[in-house]
This record gives sequence, C-alpha cells and structure tokens, in this order.
Amino acid sequence: MVGPIPRDSFQILPQSAKVLFGAKTRRALAAELSEAGVTRVLVLTTPRQVELGQAIGAELDQGFAGLFSGATMHTPVSVTQDAMNVVRQQGADCVLSVGGGSTIGLGKALSARSGVFHAALPTTYAGSEMTPILGETEDGVKTTRTDPNLRPSLVVYDPELTYRLPVAMSVTSAINAMAHAIEALYAQNGNPVVDLLAIEGIRALVTALPTIATQPEATEARAAALYGAWLCGTCLGNTSMALHHKLCHTLGGSFNLPHAQTHTVVLPHVLAFNAPKIPGVVEKLQPILGTDPARGLFDLAKGLDAPTALQDLGLAQADIARATQLALAKQYPNPRPVEPDAIAALLQRAWAGDPPKHEEMTTV
Ligand code: NAD
Repeated sequence: MVGPIPRDSFQILPQSAKVLFGAKTRRALAAELSEAGVTRVLVLTTPRQVELGQAIGAELDQGFAGLFSGATMHTPVSVTQDAMNVVRQQGADCVLSVGGGSTIGLGKALSARSGVFHAALPTTYAGSEMTPILGETEDGVKTTRTDPNLRPSLVVYDPELTYRLPVAMSVTSAINAMAHAIEALYAQNGNPVVDLLAIEGIRALVTALPTIATQPEATEARAAALYGAWLCGTCLGNTSMALHHKLCHTLGGSFNLPHAQTHTVVLPHVLAFNAPKIPGVVEKLQPILGTDPARGLFDLAKGLDAPTALQDLGLAQADIARATQLALAKQYPNPRPVEPDAIAALLQRAWAGDPPKHEEMTTV
C-alpha cells in the first residue's frame, strides 16, 4: 500500500529548457539550433576553455559567428557590456555558453539584455543552466535576480566535455551540486518530484566520485556525475535555498572565497546543524551517506582530498564574527532557527576543519 504523500501541499513550476543528454550529443547542436531558427551563434567561454569553444564553434560550421572568451566569476557587468558589443558587431541571434557557472551566467546576462536565444553546454556540475537565477556584480556589489526567462532554452549535457575537469574541481563541483539537492529536500517550497530528483542526483554523484577520482575519463562515471548534476541543478532551479547557500554566498561575496570549495567545506556543518529538525531528510540520506549523513559528507570530501577547512580557502579567523553577522542580517526560511552563537560555532568548526558536530538545540 502506498504511504502518505510526502508533502501535503505543493506546486510544480513549468520547465522551459529542452534538454539533450548523452556522449557526443554536442554533435546534435547544429541541427537543434537550426530547428530553433538560429543562424549566427556567438560561443562564450572563459579564457581557459578557448580551445573547446573553438572546436564546438567549428562543428557549427556556417552558424559560427565567433568566440567571446572573457567570461569570469560573478558575472561582472563590465564584461557583459564588452560581450554585448560583440553580439551586436557579429549580428548574433544566439549565445552558446560552453563552460561552468561563470560562462552560463554571462550567457544569461546577454540573453536577458538582447533577447537572443541562449543554449548551454555545461562542463561543470554547478547547475546554473537549470535555474532562473542570475547574480551580477558592479562596483563590488553583487545583485541577484530571478526570472523564468533567464533559463537557457536549450541545454546539451555531453559527458565527454567533463573528462578534462580536474579531479579536485570535479569533487568540489559535485559537492556543490549535492548542496542544491540537500537544501531542496528541506525547502519550504519543495515538492515530491524535487525530492525524488534530489535523492537520485545525490546518489548518482556519490556513486560516481570515487571512480572519477582515480579514472577521470571513466565514461560511465562521468555520465553518472553529469546526470546527477542535472538533477541537482533542477532542484536548485525549483526551490528556495536556506542557511547553507546563504553562508556560502556571504563567504564568496564578502570574503572572496572560491565558490565550489566553500560549498564543500560548509555543507556537512549545515547539515549537522539542521539535522535535529529534519529527521525525514536524514532518513532519506542515510542509505547514500551513512548513519550520520553530515559525517558521511565530511568523510567523502576528506577521503577525496577535497578541502575541509575555511582557513585553507583564505578566511581569517577574525572574519568569523562579521561573516556570522552578514549571514544573519536578513531573515530567510531554514528548518532550524539560526542563532548567532550557533552559527559562529558552526563557522569556527568549518574554519578549523573539524568534523561536523551534532549539538543539542538550545531553542526550538
Ligand atoms: P566556473 O564556471 O567559474 O569554472 C571554474 C574554472 O574551471 C574556469 O576557469 C573554467 O573555464 C574551468 N572549467 C570549467 N569546466 C571545465 C572543464 N570541463 N575542463 C577544464 N576546465 C574547466 O565554475 P563553476 O563552479 O561551474 O561556477 C561558479 C560560478 O557560477 C559562481 O560565480 C556561481 O555564483 C555561479 N553559479 C550560479 C548559479 C545560478 O543558478 N545562477 C548556480 C551555480 C553557480
């Protein structure tokens, strides 16, 4: 007999992107773009991925209008303006983001400004391609907005493009993806479909990582990890995030800590903090991450040589107080109320690289 429905009241949001998944699916791009009515494609990359961008562009044949390789972290508006000039000069009616969250962020910013078609070929596990979210920086201030039109219209997941993602980045990027799924499992606006995607996504990533760490070009493991990343990105795009993402945005935005590595260090500590209020989520995670899922995550990261201490990412111990203050400045839903002392203690443990600790709650 079927048990009670996991969430008693929920909404499912419409999804707009067409998704293609599989090895060599990048070769279907030219036909897909032509079917979408696109004729001139500007390929976007970071400076590190120019070679890949050129190769993808070459496969587009006559549709290739050029390459802009200035994508960078936090989508600076000045870079977007430079790229906008190239869109106009080349008469592009499509931008094709080839890369991770930084490149896809630029594609979103360009598409939002000009209305050009946006297609994405993700090469990390960050998940931006599945979200209606864009964070842009100008004069040192990051502004984030949400609009369903920001989602790329076409997403092509080709696992072969992740073979060269360095192992260290693969691990932190995968844990970054798991963070989206874990926070989706306790999101106020979650739903049973998102719960299924989240558990399947985490399972795929956790299973794939040990193989990727020793054989970065293992076809099945890379495909499984990218599949997991897609599911976790979908969770991010359909729910609101809580304490974990708030802390990571604070640490990235105000202290310039690296994105995926910061998620990797913080996630076990937030899961341990929230655990007493989310027994159902803990139960769902146990078959994948062990009896204590927070400890399981910490051990997974440590065992794969990922960072486990914020001090190793450049945070000064003296900054913990200000980080706590900034992270608590605005209220947002979280399963467990966020008290300043508890958050400072959590950050202290994450700073030192200590294992996550399950503390008694002082309030309910
Ligand atoms: P990234 O896009 O900044 O990439 C990091 C570096 O790795 C870059 O130099 C890139 O060229 C290189 N790289 C990427 N894929 C590679 C590959 N397969 N092989 C070799 N090198 C590769 O990193 P990220 O973690 O994907 O994205 C982080 C950024 O994305 C942050 O600014 C974050 O805020 C944003 N983000 C936004 C959302 C959203 O929903 N808006 C979601 C997740 C992340």
